Amino acid sequence: MTSTTMASQLQVPDFQLSPQLQEFRTFVRNYAQKHLGNAAKYDAEVKFPRDAVQAAAELGLLRTTVAKEYGGSAMGNLASCVMLEEINAVCASTGVTISVHNSLVNSLLGKWCTDAQKRRWFPKLVTGEWLGAYCLSEAFSGSDAAALRCEAKKQGDHYVMSGAKLWITTGSEAKLFVVFARTGADRVKGISAFVVERDWPGVSVGKKERKLGLRGSPTTEIVCENVKVPADCLIAQEGQGFTIALDTLDGGRLGIASQSLGIARAAIELIRTHLAAQVDAKGRATASQPDQWTLADLAADLDAYRFLTWRAAILRDQGVRCSTEAAMAKSCASRLANRAARAAVAMLGLQGVDGSNAAERVLRDARITEIYEGATDIQRLVIARGLLSPA
Ligand SMILES: Cc1cc2nc3c(=O)[nH]c(=O)nc-3n(C[C@H](O)[C@H](O)[C@H](O)COP(=O)(O)OP(=O)(O)OC[C@H]3O[C@@H](n4cnc5c(N)ncnc54)[C@H](O)[C@@H]3O)c2cc1C
Repeated sequence: MTSTTMASQLQVPDFQLSPQLQEFRTFVRNYAQKHLGNAAKYDAEVKFPRDAVQAAAELGLLRTTVAKEYGGSAMGNLASCVMLEEINAVCASTGVTISVHNSLVNSLLGKWCTDAQKRRWFPKLVTGEWLGAYCLSEAFSGSDAAALRCEAKKQGDHYVMSGAKLWITTGSEAKLFVVFARTGADRVKGISAFVVERDWPGVSVGKKERKLGLRGSPTTEIVCENVKVPADCLIAQEGQGFTIALDTLDGGRLGIASQSLGIARAAIELIRTHLAAQVDAKGRATASQPDQWTLADLAADLDAYRFLTWRAAILRDQGVRCSTEAAMAKSCASRLANRAARAAVAMLGLQGVDGSNAAERVLRDARITEIYEGATDIQRLVIARGLLSPA
């Protein structure tokens, strides 16, 4: 037996997407080309991409993480990653809106809510009639999420919730909030998760943030003032909130890793087009070797980190815990997005900053991928903790 036949008989990972997922990727790419042409306008006018999100809803892109019995397409995390890379390669503001709705809200409700709760909220969420938001961060509670202070005090058949959540993606547009609040004194076990509806008395949208990038995605404060939250809007058990928050973020980080891949891809394409145009009179490439090396390194890292992201997504689809793998994917992909965007702006010179193409917007959008859903240094701590904990 030759070594080639031996190798072909060994089981190797399949690095190709299935035909169905390839078809889905083309479907989403077509959506992005058709409906995300206003990405620069959303950014310049700080305008929520309502028409693009509505079109995504009509095409079924807001239900990929929901089971079929609740109106979802049950496509899962790998499909969501493929979808989010395509969308974010064109418009990161639309991308983060869809990522949060699918990976932080729908996934959470699907995994932790009762059948009755799912039947109550999914019909509105899968059609995009309602958008969802995930409310964990507060003024003194970002990386240290367990420091949150928003309170929910049990009174008979309901809780009374008071507190302010900060930096909430889609805050001014969402109709359903997953809110993490303190129901007990214990730093971690005293946290519970609730569904809070936008129209309930005492719920209001506070300050809207003015941001460096992702300007089409509204990031706002969500204020709860003595909000009466029915007890049947508690998610899972009292005290399980922190576990739910962290478990959900594993999936959310796959969304942001995919967003970062999309942003990196947009930047690499700007560089490729710029260098491909540099030719001599005979049509031979004249791009400098250092510029070619930069392009080569970025393209190789893009492929490597896409596999890192897909590996974590496949694990999560298989029900295997993927905190370390998701943190690896997010930290690597988000740093790549920033490196690629900086290189694009540098190589394009004046055209990198004058707004005549996507380079400067891509650079501004990229920065945020290293902050939200766990800053890069926090991802590195998660990875180290995974490596150092006993097997
Ligand atoms: C555009 C945007 C959208 C967001 N959307 C949401 C949302 O929808 N829902 C939500 O709940 N939150 C949201 N956030 C909040 C986001 O998750 C937090 O900004 C993030 O967790 C970091 O918290 P922080 O900003 O308070 O920074 P800090 O916690 O103050 O951290 C600042 C820096 O300090 C370092 N650092 C902090 N702690 C440690 C540590 N223990 N070890 C080592 N280094 C450390 C890190 O380098 C970090 O970058 C959003 C933020 C942004 C920018």
